[in-house]
Amino acid sequence: MDIHEYQAKEVLAGFGVTVPDGALAYSPEQAAYRARELGGDRWVVKAQVHAGGRGKAGGVKVCDSDVAILDASEAMFGMKLVTHQTGPEGKGVYRVYVEAAMPISREIYLGLVLDRTTQRVMIVASAEGGMEIEDISADKPDSIVRATVEPAVGLREFQCRQIAFKLGIDPAQTQQMVRTLQGCYRAFTELDATMVEINPLVVTEDGRIVALDAKMTFDDNALFRHPQISELRDKSQEDPREARAADRGLNYVGLDGNIGCIVNGAGLAMATMDTIKLAGGEPANFLDIGGGATPERVAKAFRLVLSDQKVEAILVNIFAGINRCDWVAEGVVQALREVEVNMPVIVRLAGTNVEEGQKILARSGLPIIRATTLSEAAERTVGAWKNELSQGIKIRAMS
Ligand code: GDP
Ligand code: MN
Repeated sequence: MDIHEYQAKEVLAGFGVTVPDGALAYSPEQAAYRARELGGDRWVVKAQVHAGGRGKAGGVKVCDSDVAILDASEAMFGMKLVTHQTGPEGKGVYRVYVEAAMPISREIYLGLVLDRTTQRVMIVASAEGGMEIEDISADKPDSIVRATVEPAVGLREFQCRQIAFKLGIDPAQTQQMVRTLQGCYRAFTELDATMVEINPLVVTEDGRIVALDAKMTFDDNALFRHPQISELRDKSQEDPREARAADRGLNYVGLDGNIGCIVNGAGLAMATMDTIKLAGGEPANFLDIGGGATPERVAKAFRLVLSDQKVEAILVNIFAGINRCDWVAEGVVQALREVEVNMPVIVRLAGTNVEEGQKILARSGLPIIRATTLSEAAERTVGAWKNELSQGIKIRAMS
């Protein structure tokens, strides 16, 4: 789960990281009012979306008057901010953050990520702040400083000093750098984050080290341990298909293709997607409905897959170990009676009570295409989909 910049700053400030004074606003008037409350004569208005690259896309504006703040935030509110991280559909701006502007002397990149190769938290830093890390690693790979943390002892002070030295931090500011790094590391581990990124971390003209931007991502599977973090979820920033799935307790990842997949088991779901691609199709989603799928759950899965307007054919692939094929078949029949599905539906059942399951599908009188093996199922799905397309039938998902 991602959180907004202003939320990440509040979290990190709680771990001793210095952040600028700022306030959140839900309207242009409130933004101007917040700036007056903050005081000073220069502010930065920042669109709050779950994506980086806002600066280049018009989502960060430095302002020096009330009118400038009203204008800047009026342009931001309600817009779909498109950055290189959002995809072409962009992300809606419903909150802006107003901060006192900082006199910047230099910008540094700082990131903490989980490095799967070393199985450690890795600190990545560069004196080339302000640029995206992808660009830094392409253009200035030598500027990147890396350090891994031994989990049993945590991030040691000498490591932080080493990083500060390699970044060319003035010795007078080393202690601030140590505090910033250790604060980020503690926030990362204590809150089960998978990523903390401060870009830029700045040295101000008066010698302070301040997080000018902040991003944090958390491990979804650990959120139950951190109710104060899960509370920060903002569904307006998530893929609506995935948000709906999360609400229904289904394990779903939206993709760009048009073959909807309903599968039990994550491994089988992955294999199903691969086989669809092998047969010349593109999966619209990953969906694992879980081991003990009841007819209600199968019906829910159908509704979810059909709510994706891109879906033009559906493949149901169930291997019943814990589950029973007859229950799944009942679920499919029930779903197809409740929800209008005017596109090819292919069902492949295997495992416990498979004969009974096949009978239920056959007896239903519904135009279900059946298959026995996975490759046959994928080929029939892609075949049926191409056939409908070639006949010029306008297939539309009904939600
Ligand atoms: P991002 O583009 O989404 O990563 O948004 P950032 O918060 O990183 O802001 C983009 C850029 O705006 C930064 O790299 C800075 O150069 C500039 N910026 C942001 N806040 C301030 C500020 O308080 N003062 C000044 N002078 N520039 C700022
Ligand atoms: Mn940034």
